[in-house]
Amino acid sequence: MTAQTIEFRKRPDTAEAVPAAGGADLAGRRGFSRPTGTSRRQVALEKRIRRLTGMAIEHFAMIEDGDRIMVCLSGGKDSYTLLDILLKLQAVAPVRFELIAVNLDQKQPGFPEHILPEYLTALGVPFHIETQDTYSIVKRVVPEGKTTCSLCSRLRRGILYRVADELGATKIALGHHRDDILETFFLNLFHGGKLKTMPPKLVSDDGRHVVIRPLAYVPERDIEKYAALAGYPIIPCNLCGSQPNLKRAETKAMLRQWEKDFPGRVESTFRAMSQVVPTHLLDHGLNDFAAVRADGVAREDGDTAFDAMPVVPGTALAGLDDPMEMDAADDAADDGAGEDEAGLI
Ligand code: SF4
Repeated sequence: MTAQTIEFRKRPDTAEAVPAAGGADLAGRRGFSRPTGTSRRQVALEKRIRRLTGMAIEHFAMIEDGDRIMVCLSGGKDSYTLLDILLKLQAVAPVRFELIAVNLDQKQPGFPEHILPEYLTALGVPFHIETQDTYSIVKRVVPEGKTTCSLCSRLRRGILYRVADELGATKIALGHHRDDILETFFLNLFHGGKLKTMPPKLVSDDGRHVVIRPLAYVPERDIEKYAALAGYPIIPCNLCGSQPNLKRAETKAMLRQWEKDFPGRVESTFRAMSQVVPTHLLDHGLNDFAAVRADGVAREDGDTAFDAMPVVPGTALAGLDDPMEMDAADDAADDGAGEDEAGLI
C-alpha cells in the first residue's frame, strides 16, 4: 500500500464537480437524494465546506491511499456533515479510500435506533451499529448529581477503538470543527493553564489508532446552516439527561459574542494556533533559552512584541481565506438567490 497523501486543493476541475443538485452525483451512484431542494446558496456553502475540509486533509496529511476510515456518526449535525463531505471528496479524490460509518448505540432512553440504519441504508454507505449499554453503567457508577461525561466518554472511546480494530479501520474520523477547537483552546487557557487544544490529527490513547478531524477548519455556523438545508434526521444529544458542560457553554457564548462585537478576532485567534513562535513564549522546554546569545546578527523576528504580524504566504493557514472575504465571494457567486434562502445563510 502506497502512503500517498491526497491533494484535494490541486483539483479545481473536480471542485467544480460539486453536484448542482446538492448530492446529485452521489444520488445517482448511491441512490440517495436530499430531502430539501437545493439553492445556489446551498451549493456555495457546500463548496466552501468541501474546500476547507480538503485543505485540512492536505495540511495535516489525514488521508492516504488505501485508508479505511471509520466515520463516527452520532446523529448530530457535525457527524452527518462530516460523512456527507467525505463521501463527496471520496467521489473525486485522486486516491482510493474506504468509508465505513459507525454509530454507538449507548442505550440512552428514547434513542431512536431506526434512524441511522435507515438513513445509511438509503445512502448506500457501509455501516456498523455497535450496541453497548454504557448508559446503565454510567448511571450505576456515577453518584447522582455528579457529571457523567468523563466516564461515558472513556467507555465510548474504548468501545470505538475496539470496533476500529474489528473493522480493520486505519483511521477514525470525528466531526469536531473549528469552534470545538477554539473552545477547547480557551478552556485549556482559562482553566487548565496550558496552550493546547484538540489536534486535527493524533494518535489515540491506546497508541493503536490515528484519529482525524477533517472539519477542523470549518466554522460551526457553516455546519449549522448546511445541516439545516440538508435536512438531516438529527438525533437529540441530550437523551442521557446529563447537564451541559457549563464552562464549555460559557466559552462558546464568549466566542459567539466576539464574532458579533469584534469581527475578525475569532479568525485571528484560530490562525494563531498554526503560527506558533516558541521563541516568543515562556516554555523553556520548547526553546533553549540557556543557549540565547548575542551574536551580532540582526533578526527579522527579534524583539517585535507589538508589531503587526501579517500572514506569511506558505505558512500552514495562508490558504485559509479570511472568512469575511469568503462570505463576500460566496455572496457574489450566489447573486440572485431568493430572499428566503438568503435569510438562511
Ligand atoms: S452528554 Fe451524555 S452521552 Fe454525551 S458524554 Fe456526557 S453523559 Fe455521555
